[in-house]
This record gives sequence, C-alpha cells and structure tokens, in this order.
Amino acid sequence: MSLEQYWKKRKFDKTPEPKGKVLKTSKNRFVVHDHYAIKAGHHHDFRLEMDGVLKSWAVPKGVPEKKGKRVLAIQTEDHPVSYADFQGEIPEGCYGAGVVKVFDKGTYKLIEKTENKLVFELKGGKLKGKYTLLRFKKPKHWLLFKSN
Ligand code: MN
Repeated sequence: MSLEQYWKKRKFDKTPEPKGKVLKTSKNRFVVHDHYAIKAGHHHDFRLEMDGVLKSWAVPKGVPEKKGKRVLAIQTEDHPVSYADFQGEIPEGCYGAGVVKVFDKGTYKLIEKTENKLVFELKGGKLKGKYTLLRFKKPKHWLLFKSN
C-alpha cells in the first residue's frame, strides 16, 4: 500500500489536509465524509481502514442508509489513516477544493474480502449493518449497497 498518489495530488503548504503516513492499526475504522466540492459538487467519500491506509470511494449519490438502493462508488486514491479525523476547508485551486465534514464514523467488521468484493458490517452513529461493495467495472467502478 502506498500514499504516493495521495501525496502527489496535494500541496501540503496550501491544504489543511494531513500529509500522513502508512500506519497499521487494529482500529478497523470507517468514516464517511460529506464533501461539498466546488468542482464535483456535494458527495460522500466512504473510507475503510485497511492495510495501513483508508481505502476510499467517492459516492456521488451518498451512502445508502436503508436497504434497496444500489449506488455507484468510484474508488479514489488511498488516504492516510489520520484523514479519518479530518474536517476543514480545502482552498480553491487545490485538489478537492471545498468544505469537508464528517458525516459518520465508527468501526467495521470485515465479513468477506476478495479482489472484486468487500462485505462488512458498519457500526457507526448513522450507518449500521451489513454493506457490500462490488466491483463491476475494473479498475475503479463499484456498486455500494446495504444488504442487511
Ligand atoms: Mn471527495
């Protein structure tokens, strides 16, 4: 795992985002950021702590809170685990410019992991229960839905 892409996209003298590092913990955190992006518009960024980084997906329609809705989740660059606590305003002209807030956070239990499928149980304040991420188009397009 590497944060090269994350670092390459950002100028740390301009953005308040953490530079971070790869750091393996046993915390199994997840976080959903509300990202009011100037360019892309409001979306969720869903992040799962895994292998020392936060695996990340942009979810344009938001992470479903109920069963029955399948949404597109576009995998983005791995983020440092310290990003789980990040909230702030990324200045105009910077990558991801706009306001970032934490929508929900908590821990998760991994149920299944293959190259194209992740099943996990979220234990957050708002998001609770079993979720699936299913890759349907390589390399970056996944479906995210609540399965239980
Ligand atoms: Mn985003």
